[in-house]
Amino acid sequence: MAGEPQDDCLFCRIVAGHVPATIVRETETTIAFRDINPQAPTHVLVIPKAHYPTVAELATADPALTADILRETEAVADEDKLESYRIVFNTGPGAGQTVFHAHAHVLGGRGMQWPPG
Ligand code: C5P
Repeated sequence: MAGEPQDDCLFCRIVAGHVPATIVRETETTIAFRDINPQAPTHVLVIPKAHYPTVAELATADPALTADILRETEAVADEDKLESYRIVFNTGPGAGQTVFHAHAHVLGGRGMQWPPG
């Protein structure tokens, strides 16, 4: 069923506490943790506790939960005192998505280039 935890999903395993992560924020519906391979001084992933493979599927199935994710990205930026930051949802393997549990990357603490690679 849509949103149900998946045994073979790394981020569902983090939500369940079976894989360690440095959690910086938690709400009833989301968690935020530091990326294990940071690409900027702040690199935090905000994920829904429910399992949706991509942000597109999440947004279609649960707009309120999508809004929770966006609200939490702002909370992460506030906590790390980021004046400017980038929110990225890699969607699909061609865009660099490697974990198929929707997640927002919050990147900040350094200058950024546009367009991204
Ligand atoms: O957008 P993408 O799917 O590539 O992002 C997955 C992210 O999950 C990567 O930035 C990777 O470093 C991170 N990751 C993590 N902890 C893990 C495994 C992956 O923070 N245990």
